[in-house]
Amino acid sequence: MTDLKGLDAHETEDWAISQGLKAFQGRQIRQWLFKKLVGSFDEMTNIPKPLRARLKEEENINHLEKVKVLTSEDGTQKFLFQLFDGHFIESVLIPEGDHSTLCISSQAGCAMGCRFCLTARQGLKRNLKASEIIDQVIQVRKSMDTPDRLTNIVLMGMGEPLANYDALVKALGNLISPDGMNFSNRKVTLSTCGLVPQIETLGRDVTVNLAISLNAADDETRDYLMPVNRKYPLRDLIAACKDFPLPNRRMITFEYILIKDVNDRPQDAQQLKGLLSGLRAKINLIPLNASPNADMAAPSMEKILQFQDILVKNHFTAMIRKSRGSDILAACGQLSGSYKE
Ligand code: SAH
Repeated sequence: MTDLKGLDAHETEDWAISQGLKAFQGRQIRQWLFKKLVGSFDEMTNIPKPLRARLKEEENINHLEKVKVLTSEDGTQKFLFQLFDGHFIESVLIPEGDHSTLCISSQAGCAMGCRFCLTARQGLKRNLKASEIIDQVIQVRKSMDTPDRLTNIVLMGMGEPLANYDALVKALGNLISPDGMNFSNRKVTLSTCGLVPQIETLGRDVTVNLAISLNAADDETRDYLMPVNRKYPLRDLIAACKDFPLPNRRMITFEYILIKDVNDRPQDAQQLKGLLSGLRAKINLIPLNASPNADMAAPSMEKILQFQDILVKNHFTAMIRKSRGSDILAACGQLSGSYKE
């Protein structure tokens, strides 16, 4: 059985030829999968009927099982999918005016162990296959009344995308290539906790936007919040960001969760400013969402605005990111893929 949504254009042509089809029919099948979003060979009407019948016998078009969709009062939708081996993952569709952003997962669970994140609590179940990463986009699009409104993709769901590197790069390829789903690479953002070697190769392998989950501007605080920092401390992380190839006028996004009495003091903002000086950076400030650690809380709005003000006065773009879908546990750091009847 071939995992067709996990193949790139070349591999699909080779597969087609191995099946006794023509290379162009491989390209037609890609169109059906990624543009017309069909779920069966029967629907591929430009493939001759006998061929369709044979493909149906011998192959299978895998897809994620949509188990449940929750809708938040703010319109955010959380999709719970079951994988073929029983694990669960989540994707979150966030409407923003006339377009929507989909937040997708790269792993079932996560091994990174960040102290504030609910996904971390379950540990890593397994890496997603390239087809499972892109099929989240396909299945969600299929469920939409106006699928074209889905223009933005963020890899900020469950898992650490750069810890599942090969599958990730493959899925990104099919997401942004014109003969795949044809998303604009300006509208695809990968977020990482900071796996330095993979940040270095990513810039060479594919063009998408990069976001770094920074969350602290000194190693002591970052070690405490994010174990990955002990392996790749701030100096290495910032150096990799400085070397990251950025197309014209693009910036790296730095995500900074604000946590009361942990990283929210004016001197933390000053230190952040120093750390990011000389980088083409914009900063997203995220007040902590209800997290597994009951001893951590979001700062007061006054404190948050004060923190932002220091950055803005120093000429940084620093936005306070509104939390979406928290009533259905769909907000940042709240995805657990748990299934309750
Ligand atoms: N592993 C990747 C992708 C997951 S992104 C990464 O670390 O970037 C998840 C985003 O949600 C990150 O920016 C993270 O900092 C943020 N996040 C995690 N837990 C959170 C919480 N409890 N409140 C607010 N943001 C959180």
